[in-house]
Order: sequence, then structure tokens, then C-alpha cells
Amino acid sequence: MPDRRGGSGAGFEMSSYYAIGARPLAAPRLSSDERADVVIIGAGYTGLWTALECVRRGLSAVVLEARSVGFGASGRNGGQAIPGWRKGVPDLIRTFGAERARRLFALSEEARRSVLSLIAEEGLECDLRQGGHLLAAARRRDVEGLKREAEALASFIGYGEARFLTAEDVRERVASARSFGGLLDMGGFQIHPLKFALGLARAALRRGARIYEESPVLEIEATSNGVRIRAEGGDVRADHAVVACDALPGGPAPWLASAVMPVAAYQIATEPLAGADQLIRGGLAVSDTRFAVNYYRISADNRLIFGGGERYTVRPPATIEGFVRPFLEEVFPQARDLRIEHAWGGLVSITRSRFPDVGREGRLLHALGFSGQGVLLTALAGRAMAEDLIGRPDMLREMEGLSPSRFPGGEFLRSPLYSVGMLYHAARDRL
Ligand SMILES: Cc1cc2nc3c(=O)[nH]c(=O)nc-3n(C[C@H](O)[C@H](O)[C@H](O)COP(=O)(O)OP(=O)(O)OC[C@H]3O[C@@H](n4cnc5c(N)ncnc54)[C@H](O)[C@@H]3O)c2cc1C
Repeated sequence: MPDRRGGSGAGFEMSSYYAIGARPLAAPRLSSDERADVVIIGAGYTGLWTALECVRRGLSAVVLEARSVGFGASGRNGGQAIPGWRKGVPDLIRTFGAERARRLFALSEEARRSVLSLIAEEGLECDLRQGGHLLAAARRRDVEGLKREAEALASFIGYGEARFLTAEDVRERVASARSFGGLLDMGGFQIHPLKFALGLARAALRRGARIYEESPVLEIEATSNGVRIRAEGGDVRADHAVVACDALPGGPAPWLASAVMPVAAYQIATEPLAGADQLIRGGLAVSDTRFAVNYYRISADNRLIFGGGERYTVRPPATIEGFVRPFLEEVFPQARDLRIEHAWGGLVSITRSRFPDVGREGRLLHALGFSGQGVLLTALAGRAMAEDLIGRPDMLREMEGLSPSRFPGGEFLRSPLYSVGMLYHAARDRL
């Protein structure tokens, strides 16, 4: 069961490959009562972007993190910065109409620019490689959809970075046994996720945010003139609170539990490879069209980082390497002889719509459920919430209601019901 420190008991306590070589923040624990304009729960990208954007706008911000900065998905993800939303442009148009689809795509581009500008302005060392992102067709039947997406990006959005690649074009870039075609987006890039989270935290600290680690929030209470957050170590009073706990909001904010389904995802890093660039060329980050996505790239120290398979239960697999290997070897049969040096897991939080659930009810704001696209889209959520807090609600309004329906059933019923559905879709990957 999830514990109040945001752990899951599912093997995510172990630190990831990324923890090696990243300089921890070593922020203090909360040890007395505090007061701020905004109190933020969770120090992943969402909480940290919100803090940074708040202090940039003159609001004081306290961030309370149950474990350490980047302990959640932000410090253990695939590191792939994928432009756009989880749904493609034709889907955006169908769901939101042409005008709003254009606006939403433009917003996702702002998120991409925010991340790149922060890296440049701060000199943030996070192994940035701007080699593009490839959405690879995992099956022949996915090719037409990718062609349509390339066409819509070019003609409807006027986005010049993306184009369709044939199976042969893909093979020139990725030495995979499974190449049917793909969508190459040169706007995509890759980062070291934990170094980025820590850099973001340092940027917020430098501008005056206060960050406390090992300080789990136990309760959120509305008061007559604001909020009172009860945390281990003290209380924080503020005008507003932001819930940024992503996959496991249920502890401090039980009303948000049905917004997301936590899905367990596992990754491996091989030994450093002499011919890494032969496997994936030019710093390309790759993910595929499977329901349970495979994603892979070469790290700055020449390891193949591969994520594959998902589990819809908090029970960990017998071994993570044993769980990921079949997916790895299906894509790269030549990886059979490679030594795997690191294996770790994390929780991806997905919403029913696959759009993030961002919103505000009175003095409580929240943003969660980035559905595998949080490396970029969290920047947008942080800015939308900070803007709203200084009386500019437009961006938050645009994001509110993107994910209108929540998961059925209570916290406990919802999971088994939905798991059945997810297992059905994941099984279709094998057809
Ligand atoms: C394995 C994996 C691979 C992924 N790959 C990609 C990718 O390649 N590209 C991409 O765009 N996205 C990817 N994602 C998704 C992306 O990592 C997330 O969308 C993003 O990191 C979410 O950031 P967040 O700040 O909302 O959540 P998190 O980073 O999970 O942060 C939430 C924080 O809240 C804290 N917390 C929880 N409860 C409490 C409490 N009671 N008190 C105080 N703090 C609390 C947690 O400890 C945690 O640090 C991946 C996710 C996973 C798990």
C-alpha cells in the first residue's frame, strides 16, 4: 500500500541509476512552523516549477517533500522531452475543435521553450542532447496514423520540426529488429531527469523559495483566511496550497485519488557500450506506439537506457531485469549479451483522457497525471498555477477541464476494475 512518505512498497524505494553522479540537494527537514504565500506539496518537476514561477512573480513559496527532491517520477523517468501532448493533433482537433487544438499545441511549445531556456539561463548541467525524438511504429498498422500526424503537424499547425520516416529511414537511425516507420520530431530532446530536477530546485532556491526534504505532509486543512498544512516537523500556513504529488496524491489529498491511475514502469541501464552510437544514432530519443510504451536512448556515458512493459499492480516483479529483458530483446536482439548494470522502477500517473488533470478549487490548486509526458508539460502546469495566483487565470483556464472524467469506483474498487481494462489493452500490444 502507498505509505504517507509517497513510497509505494513496490520496489520504488531503491534509487535509480540516475542517483549516481547527481549531487543531492540535501535540503533541511521542516523543524518549525512557517508562513508563505503558497505552500507546495511535492518536489518533483510540478512542485518545483510552481515554486520557481511563484517566486519569479514575487510570491513567497515553501515546498514540502516527503523524501528528497526528484524522488518520484521526476528523478527516475526516461528523460525524453517529447513535444506536444500525449494525443496527436487529429485527436486534439476531434476532442477540442480546431481553434483550441491550435492553442493547446502552442502551449506545449511554450513548455518546451521553458525547459530549454531554464537549462540555458542557469547553465544547468543535465546531459542535454538535442538529437530529436522518434515515435516509432511498433506495428505495421500504426504507420498510417503517424503519417497523418506528420501531415497535420505540417499543414494544420505549421510546425516545421516533424516529418514521417519510412522503415528504411528508421533503420538508418536505430538498429532495431522492429522498424515499420516513425515520426521524427527534431524539437524533441533528452535530459538526465534527476540532474534536471535538482537544477530546477537550485534555481528556485536561488530566487528565494524554501524547500524542505524528508517532510511529509500529513493533512491539508482549510482555514478562514487560507490553508494550514500539517507536516512532519511543523505546520505551514499559506494563502494557497498546491498539490503536486502526481501518482500518489491520496495521502494528503484523498479527493484527488480518483484523478489518476498509478502504473508501475521499469527501466534498465546497460554497461557503457563502445558502439553505443551504432544502436541509436545522433542522440535520438525513441519511444514507440505500444499501449505499454517501450522507450530508449543512449545516456551521456554511453549506456543503453531502456524502459519497457508496465504493471498494473503495486506488487513488484521477481526481478526488474527479468521483467524488462524480453521487451529489450524484442527491440534489440543484439542486446542479449549485454550486461545490465542498473534496474529501477517508478510510478507513471495516467489520467483517463491522457491529458493532465490541472485545476483549482478555492485555495487549493493541483496538477497531476501527466501520462508519460511530464518532462515538458509540468513546466506549463507550474506556470499556469503561478499565473493564476497573481490574478491571471487564462492559462489555468485553458488547462482546466482537459481531463474531465475521473476513474470510476472508490480508491480501492477503481484499481482492480481499471487494471482489467489496462491489461486488455496491453495484451493487444502482442497481437
Ligand atoms: C519510469 C518512468 C518513465 C517516464 N518517462 C518519461 C519520459 O521519458 N518523458 C516524459 O515526458 N515523462 C516521463 N515520465 C513521466 C514524468 O516523469 C512525470 O510526468 C513527471 O515527473 C511528474 O512530475 P511531478 O512533479 O508531477 O511528480 P513526481 O516527480 O512524482 O513528484 C511528486 C513528489 O511528491 C512527493 N510526495 C508524495 N506524497 C507526499 C506527501 N504526503 N508530502 C510531501 N511530498 C509528497 C513525492 O515524494 C514526489 O517527490 C515517466 C515516468 C516514469 C515513472
